[in-house]
Amino acid sequence: MPLSPLLQRAGNPFLRVHLCFLAVFLFSAFLTVHEALELKNNYEDRQRAQLAEIQKSLDSQFQESIDELMYYEKMLNYALTHPLDSDHAREAMTRFQRLRQQNTWQLQLSSPRSMPLNGVSDSWLAHDPLLLRETEHINQELRAALEFSFILQFGDSAQDFHSRFWYISRAGFFISSRPPQSPQELAQSYSTMIQRPYFRDQNPTNPLHSRLRWTEAYQGEFNEGLMMTVSTPIVSNGYWYGVLSMDFTQQRIHALMMQARHSLLQGKLLIVDRSLNEIARLHAPNDEPLTQEQQGRVEARMRQQPAGVMRLGTQFVSWSHLKNVDAYLVNIQSLRQGLSQELGRVALFLLGMWLLFVLLLVVTHQVIFRMVRRMDMLSSQLAWRANYDGMTRLLNRNAFFEQFVALAAHNKQQQTPMAVIQLDVDHFKNVNDTWGHAAGDQALIRVASVISHTLRKYDVAGRIGGEEFCIVLPETTLSEASAVAERIRTRLAAKTILVNCKATFSVTLSAGVTGSEEQGDYHAETLQATADRRLYLAKTGGRNRVCAEG
Ligand code: GH3
Ligand code: MG
Ligand code: MG
Repeated sequence: MPLSPLLQRAGNPFLRVHLCFLAVFLFSAFLTVHEALELKNNYEDRQRAQLAEIQKSLDSQFQESIDELMYYEKMLNYALTHPLDSDHAREAMTRFQRLRQQNTWQLQLSSPRSMPLNGVSDSWLAHDPLLLRETEHINQELRAALEFSFILQFGDSAQDFHSRFWYISRAGFFISSRPPQSPQELAQSYSTMIQRPYFRDQNPTNPLHSRLRWTEAYQGEFNEGLMMTVSTPIVSNGYWYGVLSMDFTQQRIHALMMQARHSLLQGKLLIVDRSLNEIARLHAPNDEPLTQEQQGRVEARMRQQPAGVMRLGTQFVSWSHLKNVDAYLVNIQSLRQGLSQELGRVALFLLGMWLLFVLLLVVTHQVIFRMVRRMDMLSSQLAWRANYDGMTRLLNRNAFFEQFVALAAHNKQQQTPMAVIQLDVDHFKNVNDTWGHAAGDQALIRVASVISHTLRKYDVAGRIGGEEFCIVLPETTLSEASAVAERIRTRLAAKTILVNCKATFSVTLSAGVTGSEEQGDYHAETLQATADRRLYLAKTGGRNRVCAEG
C-alpha cells in the first residue's frame, strides 16, 4: 500500500508533528514556570528573613531606650506617691514660691550636676486650658521632678540612642536632658512642646492616649531635622501630671539602619511612620524610584497588612511593622538588584537553559518537519507512478481498468448510458522506423495530449498498450462517443510533429466505439472487446477512421 494514504489514515502527519512539539514545549514551559515560582517563593522568604533580621536589630536598640523610659516612668510614679522630704527639697520649694511669678525661671537642686527645672509664670498657664498648677499637686510634683532631674544627669546623650529625654509638666515646667540655653529658648520650647501631639494626645481624656504613643515624623524645633517622639503619660492617683518623652532623630535612626543593614539585602531600605511618611532611608546605587501609582498600591497594602511582600512591575517591595516603634521597615528592590543575588543567578541560569532547550526544540522541529514533508512528497510521487504512465501522463493499464470497472458498476446502478472508445495509432512501427524512437515517443505524447484536451473532466482515459489507448465516457451514448472519437481523430490528423528544424510528420489513429445501451451490458471486458473489434474493422477499412458498428 502507498505511504501517503497510510499517513492520511494515521491523521495529518504535519499536525501530529506540530502537536508533539507543542506538547513538549508546553511541558517544558510548565516545568520552568513551576521552578520559577519556587524560586520566587524562596526569594520572598529570604527577603522576609533578611528584613526580620534587620527589624530585630533595630527593635533591640529601641527597646533599650523604651526600657529606660519605662524605668523613669515607674520612678516618677513612685516619687509622686512617696515625696522626698529633705532640707534640699524644702529649700527648693521655698525658692519655687519666689520664682513662680517670673516669666521664666530655672530651679535646680544645690547639687551642681543636676538638671534644672525650667518653668514659666503662673499667669502664662492661663493661655491653655490643659495647663494647671494646683497647690494640692505642685509640691509633690516638684519634689519628684527634682529627684528625676538628679538621676537624668547620669544619662549620656552621646551614647544614648535617643537624642533627648524630657519630662513635660502641665504645671508649667519641663526638664530636659538638653536644658534650654536662654530664657527665650525656655519659653519657646515649653510653648512648642505643649502644642505637640506627644503632649496633647497623652491627656487621659484624649481617646488617642496610651502607655506608649509614637508621633508621626515631624521637624524638630532646634534644626535637628526629622524626628519621632515616644511619650508616656504620668498619672498618679487619677491625676494627670504630664508626659515623659524621648526624641529619636532621623540622623540617629539612619546611623542605626547603617549598622543593622544586612549585607545581602539589596535595594533601598526605608523606615516610614504609621502614616507612611519617610523617616530615614538607605540607598543602593542606581535605585529606581516608585511611581506615584505604585506608591499608592504599596500604601494600601501596608495599611491592610503589618508585614508582607508585593511585586510592582520590576520592583519588589517587602515591609514589616517594627515591634517597638510605630513605624514600618520597608525594602524596595529592583529586578536588576534581585537578579544580582544568588537566587537571581539561579533564575537567570534556569531561563538560559530553558531558552537553549526551546532553541533546540525549534531546530529539531524544523528538521523533523522537513523530513516528514519530504516523505510525504515521495509517497505522493510513488502513488502517482503506481497509477500513471510517466510519458503520456494518462492512467496506466491496471489503474485504468480499475476505474473502468468502478465506473461501469456505478453507471449500471444509476442505469445511465456509458460508452467506450478504443484507439490505436496507425502504422506506428513505420513512425519509429522512419523518424526514430524518440520521435515516436513525441507522437505518443501528442496523441495523449489531444485525447486529454478533448475529454470532459469526468471521462477516464488510459494507455493500455504501446500505442493503444482506451477511453470510458460515463453518461454518454454511442453516437455522442462516436462524435468524441471523431473529434480526437481529426484533431490529431491536423497536428504536425516536429522532428528537427527541417522535418515534420503527422500521425493518424483508428478508433472503435461501443456503448452500454447498444450492448445491453455494463461488463467492462465485453465493452472493451467490442470496441477493440470495431477498431480492427477501422484498421481493415483503411485506417484513420472511427468505427461504431459491426
Ligand atoms: P497498425 O496500423 O496496424 O497499428 O500498425 P502498427 O505499426 O502501429 O502496429 P504494430 O502493433 O505492429 O506496431 C506497434 C509499434 O509501436 C511497435 C513498437 O515498436 C511501437 N511502440 C510500442 N511502444 C512504444 C513506445 O513506447 N515508444 C515508441 N517509440 N514506440 C513504441
Ligand atoms: Mg497496436
Ligand atoms: Mg498501431
